[in-house]
Amino acid sequence: MAAQTLHLGWYNPVRIRWGSGVLRTLPLQQASVVVADRAALSQSDVSFLRDTLGAHGAGWAWYEGGLATVEKARQLCQALWPAMQRQPGTTVIALGGGSTLDLAKAVRYRLADVALCARTWRNNQLPEVYERHPLWLLPTTAGTGSEVTRWATLWDTDAQPAVKLSWSPLDGFAECAMVDPDLTLSCPLPQSRDCALDTLAHALESLWNKKSNPMTEALGLEAARIVIAQLPLLLQMQDAHAPRIALARASVLAGLAMSQTQTALAHALSYDLTLHENMPHGHACAVWLPMVWELAQEASSACAALLGRVFQDTSAPGARQLHQWLIGLGVSPRDLRTTLDGRERLSLELGSARGRNFIGSPTTAG
Ligand SMILES: [Zn+2]
Repeated sequence: MAAQTLHLGWYNPVRIRWGSGVLRTLPLQQASVVVADRAALSQSDVSFLRDTLGAHGAGWAWYEGGLATVEKARQLCQALWPAMQRQPGTTVIALGGGSTLDLAKAVRYRLADVALCARTWRNNQLPEVYERHPLWLLPTTAGTGSEVTRWATLWDTDAQPAVKLSWSPLDGFAECAMVDPDLTLSCPLPQSRDCALDTLAHALESLWNKKSNPMTEALGLEAARIVIAQLPLLLQMQDAHAPRIALARASVLAGLAMSQTQTALAHALSYDLTLHENMPHGHACAVWLPMVWELAQEASSACAALLGRVFQDTSAPGARQLHQWLIGLGVSPRDLRTTLDGRERLSLELGSARGRNFIGSPTTAG
């Protein structure tokens, strides 16, 4: 029998430093500007950064929460680009959740004029003249995986209706991701839950994905198992350090898998809930996971076998176990298959940019 040829593609140049206390080991010896989520950093973290940067600190801008919009990104560029222009090669350091990190991914491409920002991001196309600054990303939530992917979500709220933009230059990866689980300790539990649900969504979406490969499968499977075991522990034990560390690890693993496969159908369906029901991203993805799990099982026996390894207890179908697990966390799963409108919506999203990556989509992957 001829040996089967395995075609395995992998590209992720982000250098990862991982572990409790990594923040305090940052080599801050070069000109830097900081983008930080005001709610995510303790006063001692802020003092440490300001003191350590000293004269190297060329600028500092706060992200005050809410969606990462084109307008917020433009304001950050306006605040930080003059300092970045004075010293070419200035490093952009971002500390915060996924929105903060995504905004920094826009700021690090300094254009000739702030007036060019919106058009550049809407077209997802860099102009001829720009400077790409080094980027260091430090997540303060365990969930988005944004620190190891090359794309950023920006919401264009000037458009009617608002549009989700994916800013994704080919060299959009950060130079360095510094993942310090201690930075997630102060994250409120409801937000921690939603972020961990986002990790689970990234993990599962990499499994039921047309672009999956044996490496992303191993990462996605491990990340999903960690979230399923550790998130209930975190919510029960409140101050527990160990589940925080485990969930930070799961977030990076799922992020690495997603950096190769992108997301799929559950994410495609989530954006509407975030925009119109103000539902946090991870929660908005999670409500669709049991339905998409069943669709994936129907579409591919290989994927069904893989999903069968997510839950250790195999006495009940995985999708049903996931449904119950979510209910236990206060999340109510939804199903579009029961109404005509729902089925039409499902078929529409299966052809969308992210939906096309789903293993059960009839359209070629995006
Ligand atoms: Zn996500």
